[in-house]
Amino acid sequence: MRKKMIAGNWKMNNTPAEGAKLVQDIKAAADAATCDVVVCTPFVCLPSALEAAKGSHVQVAAQNMHYEDKGAFTGEISSVMLKDMGVTHVVLGHSERREYFAESDQTVNLKTKKALMENIVPIVCVGESLEQRETGIAFDWIRMQVKLALLGIAKEDVKRVVIAYEPIWAIGTGKTATDEQANEVCGVIRSALKELYDAETADEMRILYGGSMNAKNAQGLLAQSDIDGGLIGGASLKAEDFSTIIGFAG
Ligand code: PEP
Repeated sequence: MRKKMIAGNWKMNNTPAEGAKLVQDIKAAADAATCDVVVCTPFVCLPSALEAAKGSHVQVAAQNMHYEDKGAFTGEISSVMLKDMGVTHVVLGHSERREYFAESDQTVNLKTKKALMENIVPIVCVGESLEQRETGIAFDWIRMQVKLALLGIAKEDVKRVVIAYEPIWAIGTGKTATDEQANEVCGVIRSALKELYDAETADEMRILYGGSMNAKNAQGLLAQSDIDGGLIGGASLKAEDFSTIIGFAG
């Protein structure tokens, strides 16, 4: 049985004080649940979120990191710095970073390897655009993204990687993939993992769905056979909605 994960991607939202309050407000739901609950906060919110999460089941993630330990990389944050603070997870290759900040499959791969070295759980995002879906290349595209992200990662390590399937056309648009569409692609990802590694590894790895998941549609999505949780943007900013989603994951 794969442990479900509910991860809230706050994106560029919340001040440190607002973030601490949000963590306080979701603690009860997180503590009552058996799934992993993660909040992916802006860098400046990490200290207050970590403080607020102390003693609870809420885990704290960054939304990006650099693959070098230190050096002349103005504006960047390293995995060593995150680890030192107590950050346990990191979102890598979000489509917004790929689109606006030149994140590539190659840098996602470097960062994924580095996060694993640092014992930080990488949540690696993949997903197709609407055009790719309409032209029938979505599955090939996603298989390629998964393969490139995991290039050179050994079987013993890859099990710690979490993959998030996030169709770009569903992110922040209010358009959600249907339960079947989302499960179909998560199944494609699992088959790719089986080809790259083996059936046992593919069965153990967690695959999340992300794209306008909310308190109304989460129950159906989370009940699908190949969906092991959610990466949630907008709805993760509302404690009540996020708590409801955590409740559906159990
Ligand atoms: C996301 O940011 O990863 C996301 C899925 O956003 P939203 O839930 O707002 O579509």
